[in-house]
Amino acid sequence: MKIALIAHDEKKDDMVRFATAYKEILKEHELYGTGTTGTRIMEATKLNVHRFQSGPLGGDQEIGAMIAKNQMDIVLFFRDPLTAQPHEPDVSALIRLCDVYLVPLATNMGTAEVIIKGLERGDLAWREVIEKRNGEQNGNE
Ligand code: PGA
Repeated sequence: MKIALIAHDEKKDDMVRFATAYKEILKEHELYGTGTTGTRIMEATKLNVHRFQSGPLGGDQEIGAMIAKNQMDIVLFFRDPLTAQPHEPDVSALIRLCDVYLVPLATNMGTAEVIIKGLERGDLAWREVIEKRNGEQNGNE
């Protein structure tokens, strides 16, 4: 699975804690992150994270582009709901694309944990739904 990891500044410590706690699961997957979040995770866990631009400089949009190409499977995005973000339009766009493309999205650690545990169990069916839909779309082109 391709997993995107993003955290706003006030949530970066939480993201590092989360990635450390679930390192053994995360290491089985392809990890992507916005610049600073990705660096923090790599330094703390030694996991390999493909890093995009920092969020305010376009990193959210780069992850959005992967979603639009059906190249991202899960997004874990620890948002800070109490601080105004200069790139709020990008944040909204990323969340919207997750809904357009049926990409599981966690916006806080609680949901992220549920998703990661589901991933560990391996009995999630949403990928099959997406693949079926993509197959149908390709057939119609
Ligand atoms: P950052 O970006 O990981 O580069 O800080 C995250 C964000 O603010 O969207």
